[in-house]
Amino acid sequence: MEIKRQIRSTPQVGYAPYRQIHPHSTGNSRSTAQNESDNQNNNRPEAFFTHVVGNGEIIQIAETGRGAYDVGGGWNYETYAAVELIESHSTKEEFEIDYRLYVNLLRQLADEANIPKTLDTADLSGIKTHMYCTYHQPNNGSDHIDPYPYLNKWGVTVDQFEKDLANGFTESGSNTSNNENEETQKPKTKEEITMICFYQVDKKGPVYYFDGQSVRGLAHQDEQRVLNDIYRANNGKDIPTFQWTSKAPWHARLLGVVNRKPMK
Ligand SMILES: [Zn+2]
Repeated sequence: MEIKRQIRSTPQVGYAPYRQIHPHSTGNSRSTAQNESDNQNNNRPEAFFTHVVGNGEIIQIAETGRGAYDVGGGWNYETYAAVELIESHSTKEEFEIDYRLYVNLLRQLADEANIPKTLDTADLSGIKTHMYCTYHQPNNGSDHIDPYPYLNKWGVTVDQFEKDLANGFTESGSNTSNNENEETQKPKTKEEITMICFYQVDKKGPVYYFDGQSVRGLAHQDEQRVLNDIYRANNGKDIPTFQWTSKAPWHARLLGVVNRKPMK
């Protein structure tokens, strides 16, 4: 795997052993991998991530095994590597190429650091998404839920990501493609049920709105009110609201399940 090195010196954050790899996505629908590297090199005082994957390439901008200020909380001190995936893909093919690089890189880094290739488990050691860190790390100050919404946008579920990280890819093609083939063979039924809800985690922090395809944090209570008003006018009832806890992060599973059938 070719890794372009555009390294600059970064402070050490925390102390070895660094027990986690953190998958992220950039949240920027326009930037290239090189933009992200340049931005990091020019504008950020500390290491925010170690690698960025995009446009068919991997750029490493900081050394691994030094911690990083990437998850906004106590697990900054556990960061062996923080890997960003760009969000500017315009086709599934473009996404697939980078997704495979992303997964392969995460797997390679985990092997290198002797970190288990598990996704978002309760053990301190493993691969932890930024979303999982947000809901589980001590002293959390982050509200980010990447990379799930972006992976979901291209049809990669939580389960799929977990499997790909554990097993890698077969010669015959990516597991996502296989999964998609299975899906397309199923008979199509007309689905009338709207899968919409609000949810909140641990009864604090932002209320999230799930519109059936993606999740957004709401900035203000009035946003929840107006969405609910429209929904009630159309459906005669309120949007269901769920309270979940960080101990049982069902919201992460929700992102996986509902997007299992990629929309065309
Ligand atoms: Zn992130």
